[in-house]
Amino acid sequence: MRVLVLGSGQLARMMALDAMPLNIEVQAFDVRSDQIVDPLSQQVLGEGLSQALRDADVVTAEFEHIPAAVLELCEQSGKFLPGQDAIQAGGDRRLEKALLQQAGVASAHFHLVQSKADLEAAVAKLGLPLVLKSALEGYDGKGQWRLKQMEQLDAVWAEVAQFLKQASKKAKQGIVAEQFIPFDYEVSLVGARGKDGSTVFYPLTENHHVNGVLSVSLARSEHPLQAQAEQMFQAIADKLNYVGVLAIEFFVVGEQLLVNELAPRVHNSGHWTQQGADTSQFANHIRAVCGLPLGATTVLRPTLMVNILGLDQLPDALLAIAGLHVHWYGKTARPGRKMGHINLSADTTEQLAKRFAQLMALLPAEDFPELELLLTKI
Ligand code: ATP
Ligand code: MG
Ligand code: MG
Repeated sequence: MRVLVLGSGQLARMMALDAMPLNIEVQAFDVRSDQIVDPLSQQVLGEGLSQALRDADVVTAEFEHIPAAVLELCEQSGKFLPGQDAIQAGGDRRLEKALLQQAGVASAHFHLVQSKADLEAAVAKLGLPLVLKSALEGYDGKGQWRLKQMEQLDAVWAEVAQFLKQASKKAKQGIVAEQFIPFDYEVSLVGARGKDGSTVFYPLTENHHVNGVLSVSLARSEHPLQAQAEQMFQAIADKLNYVGVLAIEFFVVGEQLLVNELAPRVHNSGHWTQQGADTSQFANHIRAVCGLPLGATTVLRPTLMVNILGLDQLPDALLAIAGLHVHWYGKTARPGRKMGHINLSADTTEQLAKRFAQLMALLPAEDFPELELLLTKI
């Protein structure tokens, strides 16, 4: 079997690594260069999408910001899972909000904004503070603005208007203004839905961000909101007749979950499953889109994940910590860029906290500002 992945970054790479023992080959389509590459070596294997589509058994995606023409071509091949609708809903916040409403799952109230009058209407309808998000192409907190007080409206609108003016003409850019949610903390649910509609779920993962980028994920077995999250997942996945791994980010507000956003793919907050679960999210995505039985999501041991942002090396002494696994993506370093991650596991949460303290002592504190806080949460 051969799977073609749209996108050639670390998620395609980790899918390829977990597909190999299943005797499944993964090739990646680099959307920017229009080339087919090996997701492990980045070696160019061919040019253009059409031939690669013919040669693949299945097409899937590692990200959602994909040109409409590419999605169209993939959909026409009849091999695309989770398919055009799902990828578009993950890549356009307007479609995402409409889907959430149709599925009847709670998320922050919103108003669509194209003009200053729309923004004023959003304030009148939703109150302040507001979070303004570009409808297209947002990730890692990019393309977002906060409007806290009425006095800021002119200044914030000037920035947003500038952004809208510069936006590419290919797709109609817009802004989703949503209510600021004073959440307790953030969690995500990663699950997989097979071709037969069966589902498997990993436990909710608690996520901590630094400057809008995910920094640490901590798997939370037996979380009281697990069932609520799974119900919301089912409602969304059923609407899309979804096949593959789907990740849903939530705000926890007391006893209630509000959906923040969807990722129609494997997700950074699921990387811990490589060492912490019976079957990783990458293996389960490959299984799902290839029509194979889904693998057990049983948690093997308490595990957390720390993202390596902007650094291309760490002290080798890290590897001496029991239960620690480093995953480098082989990318060129840029400030804040996701370069790799560390999975840390232990037999008990007490042992995990001890190992985490050992890890912290070896990491440059200025590059991992959030870890101190996390130590209290394990
Ligand atoms: P990702 O890299 O996860 O795709 P993104 O750029 O799509 O990020 P969001 O997940 O929408 O952005 O927002 C980034 C972060 O900003 C959230 O994880 C949350 O901490 C905060 N945030 C977003 N929307 C709201 C909101 N309505 N109220 C409060 N905080 C918010
Ligand atoms: Mg996002
Ligand atoms: Mg997000």
